Amino acid sequence: MSVRAHWRLPPAVLLAALAAACGLKAPVREFHWKAMGTECVFRAAGADAARIAEVSEAARSEVARVEGRLSLFDPASDVSRLNSAPRGEWLEVSADAESVLKTALEVAARSGGAFDPTVAPLMQVWGFRNPGRTNEPPASELAEAMCSVGYAGVRLDGAGVSLDLDRGSLDLGGVAKGYGVDAAFERIAAMGGTDYMVDIGGNMRCAGRGMRPGGWVVGVRNPFDRDDVLGTVVLTGGEAVATSGNYERFVVLSGVRYAHIIDPRTGRPVRGMAGVTVLAPSACLADALSTALFVAGPEEGGKIIASFGGCEALFVRDELPMAVLATPGFAARFRPRGGLRLNITVLDQQPGPTAN
Ligand code: AMP
Ligand code: MG
Repeated sequence: MSVRAHWRLPPAVLLAALAAACGLKAPVREFHWKAMGTECVFRAAGADAARIAEVSEAARSEVARVEGRLSLFDPASDVSRLNSAPRGEWLEVSADAESVLKTALEVAARSGGAFDPTVAPLMQVWGFRNPGRTNEPPASELAEAMCSVGYAGVRLDGAGVSLDLDRGSLDLGGVAKGYGVDAAFERIAAMGGTDYMVDIGGNMRCAGRGMRPGGWVVGVRNPFDRDDVLGTVVLTGGEAVATSGNYERFVVLSGVRYAHIIDPRTGRPVRGMAGVTVLAPSACLADALSTALFVAGPEEGGKIIASFGGCEALFVRDELPMAVLATPGFAARFRPRGGLRLNITVLDQQPGPTAN
């Protein structure tokens, strides 16, 4: 969803355009900065500019704090400490790392391993962490990387975390930005903020109403055209939204483009999905689920998300004419952009008959 993150047009411009389209002014102040490898935006409605600048600074420092705990690229982060510790050794980690791992492991288990925070060796082998690669990895390298992947090897208890993974390691890129949004969101709430939005690379959470009486209006980006939105959803009551897209990051190997989300069950980058947007009560859960459902696809993904209360999803397949599928709850809230003829297939979320 867009919410921003994914647009080539600055999000502010898109939101302002949406507001204008609704005949509304945008009495919202915006602050932009870069963190967690992406663009961050804090927006707040209100007349007290000095106070809004102060809370935006608090949001920025909270995101920096979380990045320092969860980054794969900061040697002092909890993730780097765990990745470089001897396998099986228990380490004390921050409450942030513990909390994000808890969500990651829960989504991993409930998605049948479509989401897996130990996907790091596969990211490496496909060249996402190793820019020197120019061809598809050979089967032997893939098989070796797959032996080191498996969320069941991450052990978490009240006292710490241990990685019981052959040569495996953690990559929280599919969930950390959402956690950063939640951390900033909660910090601003504790400071008394009532009408604001935090956005880290398309992972967003909103408090209050934003520009409209009903809530913050966010656009779902068109994965085939960065300057376009497919439609909008109104977020209320502290809801979050996240989008995973095949346009976000990719490598080109032997002329073929591979998106940065890997199916840990096959070891290969996912093909066939262009974008998945998830609504959820927290940004951490929305982030993990959007990645999980990008891997699982609409049929399996619709059933996975049905078991998470308050969560809805919209799927765009990587094909034209555009094939859009949504859970019933998402379809009911989604307003397609004017002039766009979208045929939305509403997913049947009933569990299928059990095979004997
Ligand atoms: P997102 O943009 O939130 O969908 O996250 C994509 C990022 O998550 C990638 O850049 C990897 O760091 C990581 N990742 C890739 N595939 C998976 C997966 N199957 N499960 C969990 N994390 C993944
Ligand atoms: Mg994600």
